[in-house]
Amino acid sequence: MDRSTLLFALAALGTAGSALAPPSLRAQAASDLHARIDELATAVNDQVVAWRRDVHAHPELGFREFRTAALVAEHLRSLDIDVTTEVGRTGVVGVLRGSRPGPVVALRADMDGLPVTELADVPFASKATAEWLGREVGVMHACGHDNHVAILMGVASVLSEMRDELPGTVKFFFQPAEEGPGGAAPMIADGAMENPDVDAVFGLHVFPMAVGTIAYRPGGMLASSDGLRIVVRGVQTHGAMPWGGVDPIVTASQIIMGLQQIVSRQTDLSDSPAVVTIGQIEGGNRGNIIPDTVLMVGTVRTLNPETRTDVHERIRRIAENIAEANGAEAEVTIDLGYPVTVNDPDLTGRMESSLRRVAGEGLTIMPPALGAEDFSYFAREAPGLFIGLGISPPEDPSLWHPNHSPYFYADERALPIGVRALASLAVDYLSGPPISEDRDR
Ligand SMILES: [Zn+2]
Ligand SMILES: [Zn+2]
Repeated sequence: MDRSTLLFALAALGTAGSALAPPSLRAQAASDLHARIDELATAVNDQVVAWRRDVHAHPELGFREFRTAALVAEHLRSLDIDVTTEVGRTGVVGVLRGSRPGPVVALRADMDGLPVTELADVPFASKATAEWLGREVGVMHACGHDNHVAILMGVASVLSEMRDELPGTVKFFFQPAEEGPGGAAPMIADGAMENPDVDAVFGLHVFPMAVGTIAYRPGGMLASSDGLRIVVRGVQTHGAMPWGGVDPIVTASQIIMGLQQIVSRQTDLSDSPAVVTIGQIEGGNRGNIIPDTVLMVGTVRTLNPETRTDVHERIRRIAENIAEANGAEAEVTIDLGYPVTVNDPDLTGRMESSLRRVAGEGLTIMPPALGAEDFSYFAREAPGLFIGLGISPPEDPSLWHPNHSPYFYADERALPIGVRALASLAVDYLSGPPISEDRDR
């Protein structure tokens, strides 16, 4: 045993929260840390509520989160956290180094609002407007990202107070443009996951579930979302003499019907759901002319990466071969959107007890959802866990609204639960044994 190994072993022995400590000591250390998290989360709660209302009243569209990013950066700096701004354009990364060595965990909040005019009846309702696609529109935190920002700011306060007890490093990702075109990938391109390299990443999203609920799902939790375009080319001719050309309208109809078999006959729905939708079809301009082309536009959703690849291949095969059988041609373009948000099964299993401690009976398994999230990009770089946080008042069903609704309402009693959940995930991860890295990602 060389000197550095010996020092490491001694340091580990002196680390009550370490994996090498006896189980009873570890349990005591963990419960002390949890008590501290809960106490600090309560202490910071008034500020978290104030930040949330402030951010809510001043929403900004994707890649324009200048005010929000400045607020976040100023707060992190006030806590003596290392701050890098303009990561992925308007993103902010904070690095909090604990006073003991250990792994690196990242916590992510998205900062952008939506082009929605707020109709919720709250005193801090948004009056903001912005230019969007050449028009003046209202802007609102209709997806609840104001809560995510405030919660993560609160977590930064809590964990910075616990710096001396932290065995490792916490990175705070305040991400732009989740609602599109996506800020996670640009942040990764700018090095957010490196220096120091992130070992695990956690994020949460508020959903219309009862306050007190935390929902999670091992494996595919949210869908991949890909755009689909099929151009069918035939040969134009008179509608009274179809044999003189090649009819792309009939061919397109057959392709649409053929595509239905992918989900109903060819995908193992007992394993993972999928959706193939054609939402737009255009072709021809007169009843007695068979046109030369038809355009179809759609969306494809899947809940695991293998199904995603498989469904894409089937779409191409069906469209191209049906077209060929009719003497036409089909050109299939799939625009890759956000990947499947996959919760690493090992990490999820390991963190389940942290979530249960915070949510108790409120911890539930979320059914697979076919919305998409660009947290998925972070979770492709390191094992990830994304959880849902209930934000709706159980006693008043009239305030339950879906994300993106102009009436979207957040019950602020959810905020301290979110702070405790993310802080506990970070601390418990850092205090636990390392997760095996030899996996095929
Ligand atoms: Zn959204
Ligand atoms: Zn969202």
